[in-house]
Amino acid sequence: MNNIENNISVIKKRIEAAAKNSGRNPNDINLVAVSKRQPVQAIIDAYNAGQRDFGENYAQELREKATELASYTDINWHYIGHLQTNKVKYVAPYAHMMECIDSTHTASEFSKQANKFNRKIDILLQVNIGNESQKHGCSSEDAKKIISEISVLGGIRLKGLMAIVPYSDDPEEARVYFHKLKLLRDTLGGKELLPHLSMGMSNDYEVAIQEGSTIVRVGTAIFGERI
Ligand SMILES: *Cc1c(COP(=O)(O)O)cnc(C)c1O
Repeated sequence: MNNIENNISVIKKRIEAAAKNSGRNPNDINLVAVSKRQPVQAIIDAYNAGQRDFGENYAQELREKATELASYTDINWHYIGHLQTNKVKYVAPYAHMMECIDSTHTASEFSKQANKFNRKIDILLQVNIGNESQKHGCSSEDAKKIISEISVLGGIRLKGLMAIVPYSDDPEEARVYFHKLKLLRDTLGGKELLPHLSMGMSNDYEVAIQEGSTIVRVGTAIFGERI
């Protein structure tokens, strides 16, 4: 087994254990391999190990990789970075899930482009759950209004919430934020309306799963340091 294949297998076992320990079905948790600033060959190695969902942060990089890997038709690209409105057109043809919608404005731009490419794209509303000034995402207070405004837009389907929680070396410190995002989801319509919670990265995905995550975004623990 190469490193990537081995890392994926270890992470899958840890996801399974974290799910079972918290009374959840491991199949309800989707591992997104964050391949930003990793070479295409690394994506192919992960693909050959059975990985199908990949996360990218930069519009041009996603477009280049998706074009180069066009023959891998069952790859699901998750766009997880901040997106300027003028770059939406680069992402719309390829994204399976758009995890970083944080305003009615970006959502409507995305909706226009999705319609142009005749696509229906799943989206997540990114919430700045730790209220950090340097992070993107809407505030918890604005989430309700944005959800109601974007519900009328075509070409996109709201599937849940996403958050990048304040960084800490200690995953236990992230727990309170994961819990907050779950509580926010419950007040905004619950699992029925917002089935997905995208939360948890390399150093805290197990805690995120214990708190209800359905999508974990793991980069370094799979691919090693980024270039
Ligand atoms: C880079 C990134 C990740 C992956 O981070 P790792 O610590 O390498 O697992 C997850 N989510 C987002 C939004 C990212 O930008």
